Amino acid sequence: MHKALVLGAGGFIGAHLVRRLKAEGFWVRGVDLKHPPFAPTAADDFVVGDLRDPVLCREVMAAPQGAPFDEVYQLAADMGGAGYVFVGEHDAAIMHNSATINLNAVDAAAAAKVGRIFYSSSACIYPLRNQMDPDTPDCAEGTAYPASPDSDYGWEKLFSERLYLAYARNTGLQVRIARYHNIFGPEGSWNDGREKSPAALCRKVAEAEDGGEIEIWGDGLQTRSFLYIDECLEGSIRLMRSDFSGPVNIGSDEMVSIDQLAGIIMAAAGKPLALRHVDGPLGVRGRNSDNRLVFEKLGWRPTRPLAEGLAATYAWIADQVRAARA
Ligand code: NAD
Repeated sequence: MHKALVLGAGGFIGAHLVRRLKAEGFWVRGVDLKHPPFAPTAADDFVVGDLRDPVLCREVMAAPQGAPFDEVYQLAADMGGAGYVFVGEHDAAIMHNSATINLNAVDAAAAAKVGRIFYSSSACIYPLRNQMDPDTPDCAEGTAYPASPDSDYGWEKLFSERLYLAYARNTGLQVRIARYHNIFGPEGSWNDGREKSPAALCRKVAEAEDGGEIEIWGDGLQTRSFLYIDECLEGSIRLMRSDFSGPVNIGSDEMVSIDQLAGIIMAAAGKPLALRHVDGPLGVRGRNSDNRLVFEKLGWRPTRPLAEGLAATYAWIADQVRAARA
């Protein structure tokens, strides 16, 4: 039986990934500071522990029946949406915590001679200069250097990409690196200060009175693309099992403005509301996934319409809002 290790298995993407790997017949160990908050983990073995501890990292990297893990997915990070990573007050924690996790994880993976390790980098590594115009952002993989990410979260991700690639060069460790672009779906943060715009807007729409209004950070013309969780897992697993190490974008190229995102959610909810634009943390002006390389290397790119994923996510968040009020 194939064995997989998921670091960050109590988080949004990690909890879904564990379920997917179990459905494929893997034996799965998950590790996180916490259990998944919304549903019991599907993992065979779940270790609650701190990956900043190098001893714990080495312990969990050793597979139970002797043979090394076939697949290790490193998703653990100190992260959140714009309200967490772009406000400035968490920069030291984000850089220290996530870099320490990655330093420990890659070293333990090389020592344990695991089959391969997947690292979840981010679109936040791309230079600010290519994301100033909301209509024509350039996030082709080759544009990452000269580097100038707009946040310390992005700098840590770029450092860690290089860390994994250096281990690949110097130790023979097989690494796979994805640059995720705004992943969303049910069972993600929606009201704990780490939620991203799709979940935050779903919550605001669900909580609003009929005929009322919701707040949008900025002028609402900033652009992004959003990838539904199922497609994120598909792309990640395809990359992991390919011969291509990356880094490569895993994201949607259906770019929308934040006002349009709110409009799609209101349509899914059947609830037209006014938009009130207010000051808030924003990030870059425009961002979209460039999917040419992923299609060239994997023969795959995401195709599911944004509206479908948002409808599923809205339904889940509306349930959470109802349950919280009951
Ligand atoms: P998440 O915050 O839901 O999951 C991260 C998990 O890491 C959390 O459960 C957290 O408890 C765990 N963690 C943090 N510090 C830890 C520590 N010291 N020891 C053990 N566990 C620890 O985030 P997510 O959305 O599931 O993202 C997963 C990965 O993908 C992260 O590395 C993130 O940076 C990356 N990513 C996500 C997105 C996105 O849109 N969700 C976009 C780009 C990159």
